[in-house]
Amino acid sequence: MTDGPTYGFDTLQIHAGARPDPATGARQTPIYQTTAYVFRDAEHAAALFNLQEVGYIYSRLTNPTVAVLQERIATLEGGVGAVCCSSGHAAQIMALFPLMSPGKNIVASTRLYGGTVTQFSQTIKRFGWSAKFVDFDDLDAVRDAIDEDTRAIFGEAIANPGGYIMDVRAIADIADAAGLPLIIDNTSATPYLCRPIEHGATLVVHSTTKYLTGNGTVTGGCVVDSGKFDWSASDKFPSLSAPEPAYHGLKFHETFGPLAYTFHGIAIGLRDLGMTMNPQAAHYTLMGIETLSLRMERHIENAVKIARWLEADPRVDFVTYAGLPSSPYFERAKTVCPKGAGALFTFAVKGGYEACVKLVDSLEIFSHVANLGDTRSLIIHSASTTHRQLTPEQQVAAGAAPNVVRLSIGIEDADDLIADLDQALARATA
Ligand SMILES: *Cc1c(COP(=O)(O)O)cnc(C)c1O
Repeated sequence: MTDGPTYGFDTLQIHAGARPDPATGARQTPIYQTTAYVFRDAEHAAALFNLQEVGYIYSRLTNPTVAVLQERIATLEGGVGAVCCSSGHAAQIMALFPLMSPGKNIVASTRLYGGTVTQFSQTIKRFGWSAKFVDFDDLDAVRDAIDEDTRAIFGEAIANPGGYIMDVRAIADIADAAGLPLIIDNTSATPYLCRPIEHGATLVVHSTTKYLTGNGTVTGGCVVDSGKFDWSASDKFPSLSAPEPAYHGLKFHETFGPLAYTFHGIAIGLRDLGMTMNPQAAHYTLMGIETLSLRMERHIENAVKIARWLEADPRVDFVTYAGLPSSPYFERAKTVCPKGAGALFTFAVKGGYEACVKLVDSLEIFSHVANLGDTRSLIIHSASTTHRQLTPEQQVAAGAAPNVVRLSIGIEDADDLIADLDQALARATA
């Protein structure tokens, strides 16, 4: 479908990358539950291994079910190619891998998913990589943090959890001026609400675990390339611009042009890191993606209703949601994500830590889980769970103060969700 007329989002979320199965005519994308693929002959096998011909060798690298999902996400994001992997965190490592080497750093937003903060501040150090965390609203600080060892800039379009919207264009301009790729984690926004490549991003990463799958069944991740970055403009990205010893001196950028980064992700990244998405997971995510726009519309509609209701409630101190006019990010959201500011937000309960814990335990429809982006409404009290190890000061800075809970609004009846919050707030603040 990629060469046809330009279809709308709702058509592409169902059809992009898929075609009736050539062997059987099966209309739904089959789950190709196979590890390996028979070569036509020895010459065909050699051409595949030399990257002279594109085809299937082994499912650690490529699989036809996963390939449909890759093409679908790339199309929805407006990219040229995508590589799926086993989780969102795997996608982040896969995204950085071709860009980094020991001693190199990334400049990252302070407002990131908690697990990403840990991955970037602790775990990547084992590879000799490091991250400098900067407030992305302070553009001078972002510029100042970039040094000669910086290889990427990383942020979230809609940041989890605190209702923060990133000025993607302003940060992309800084990345451009420094000759660096901008990587956007678009998990909370999804391409339905925000297409970061249109705002200047080079790469987009996803935890497909969340809204793209949408029903809380499988973990997965994806790295999408815009195909727009010139990897050979400097000597900063030798994995893509210089001869690759593992492929007889092939230069990825010279050979594959705009698909260099995607091919590297498969031929080196998946081959050697092995963070592969399995075809069953791709199937569940393909099922989910077919209804992405419908779900996001309802997620947003419910989130706006519930945030307004909470903001007007005397038992609530404040609500941080960029879909409310009271948010400092309300105006920015109109350009970055004009269809809505997502369905994740936090609110503060009068009565602090104790009241929050009681609230969480009193809810009946909302589930108390460490997840987001499910059809089901979810709640978490970060201070007693995901952010438990932080000091109170760090909790406040992370938008996870002891008096704050985070909601991931589902697609149930908004009135039922409001009634559930109402009864639980009554018990929590009694
Ligand atoms: C969940 C999440 C991740 C990590 O994804 P996993 O699939 O859990 O590995 C990264 N970024 C954001 C914004 C997330 O919500």
